[in-house]
Amino acid sequence: MSLTIGVLALQGGFHEHLSLIHKASALLSSKYSVTINPLEVRTLEDLNRCDALIIPGGESTTISFVAQQSGLFEPLVDFIKIQKKPTWGTCAGLILLSEEANATKKGGQALLGGISVRVHRNHFGRQIESFESPLQLPFLSSSDQSSTNFPGIFIRAPVVEEVLSSDVEVLARLPGRVEKVKPAGLSEAQTKDGAGDIIAVREGNVLGTSFHPELTEDARIHVWWVEEILRQKGLA
Ligand code: GLN
Repeated sequence: MSLTIGVLALQGGFHEHLSLIHKASALLSSKYSVTINPLEVRTLEDLNRCDALIIPGGESTTISFVAQQSGLFEPLVDFIKIQKKPTWGTCAGLILLSEEANATKKGGQALLGGISVRVHRNHFGRQIESFESPLQLPFLSSSDQSSTNFPGIFIRAPVVEEVLSSDVEVLARLPGRVEKVKPAGLSEAQTKDGAGDIIAVREGNVLGTSFHPELTEDARIHVWWVEEILRQKGLA
């Protein structure tokens, strides 16, 4: 059996996701007799080969624009909402997979949708206000190495400001007061009370996280997500 996992490679952090899919695949190879084929997705042909897809972080307006220009926008909506194939968006990817977004660019922006939430873009501010926060991710608790916190990297990150349907599962929230990384040149690290903000959600086949697991060496979320797909397919 083989599973082709695509990463939308129009803009943003797709290389990093591909590396972690490779890593997850190596970690899972002793447990399952499934070959995982990671694939950079740029064309409709690529998309049609995928069993599942990751939409990376980057700039949601750019990803959306390039998807429209390259004729991928409608096929992506079909992949997510009609074929209902497993799709995971990180940061800009979460924005694209939300049904509604606030603080969008002037004139609004085209969203793929799939998760019935409204996100607030750039919730914590600008690039310089990026931060890292240890996260407790209860959904990892069924996996082997769940005891340590997950390094949550937030870069111009969105949060879910409203859940619009009871079909949406809230998978994780920011634990407490967030200590932002001290930006170079500024005297003090800034803090912001992010306690309780929703940072991971799932609706059926679609998963969204505000932060960037692909910018860490930690493959636990990738492993968990691939195992969820294998379970749904009766392969795990
Ligand atoms: N704020 C960005 C957007 O709107 C997302 C940032 C990111 O993916 N790191 O697309």
